Amino acid sequence: MKVVAATFLKSATAAAEYPPPTLPEVAFLGRSNVGKSSLINSLLGMRGLARTSQTPGRTQLINFFEINRELRFVDLPGYGYARVPQAVRERWRPMIEGYLNRRSALALCVLIVDARLEPQPLDLTMYEWLAAMSRRFCVVATKADKLSRSQLLSRLSALRAVYGPGVLPYSALTRAGAEQVWEVIHAAIAA
Ligand code: GDP
Repeated sequence: MKVVAATFLKSATAAAEYPPPTLPEVAFLGRSNVGKSSLINSLLGMRGLARTSQTPGRTQLINFFEINRELRFVDLPGYGYARVPQAVRERWRPMIEGYLNRRSALALCVLIVDARLEPQPLDLTMYEWLAAMSRRFCVVATKADKLSRSQLLSRLSALRAVYGPGVLPYSALTRAGAEQVWEVIHAAIAA
């Protein structure tokens, strides 16, 4: 997709604050610092739209972005950040669950994992959760540029053994994998 316009729409915590469900939505999920903002920004070809970890203000909210007046990207708060207080962690689950369970506009969930790491317990929990919800989702393994070609191939086969054959390698640095991720997004919003 040629992104001609992408704008931050609004932040929300509860369903009453979501924008009207008038466009298909692609939701991004991952552990804090996994590279979620970088993935969103690089898919859109825009540097500062989703805030990277240096600016944590928006990170505990559900952020909606509108693209070409055609679809929305939904940046869900990162999970598993050790320094987040218990109270924040307790708010996280109903916030995410509420969105994933009930949002009619949700067309695709993108679960982002670190290409360098073994499947992480929290990622596995999230994966099982998504599978149980019968939502359409895909797994993207980011920071692939930090691995050599042979390391990446061996990591990918380990990740695919767990998350299924569809795991896509990605690099926000080089944009390698962007076309493949967009293909999955297009297929989901056309479905
Ligand atoms: P978030 O907390 O999941 O939104 O993570 P960020 O997008 O803020 O990324 C966390 C850190 O990882 C930042 O320093 C990014 O520059 C870096 N990063 C994210 N994606 C990539 C990638 O694909 N390649 C490399 N080399 N670094 C990345």
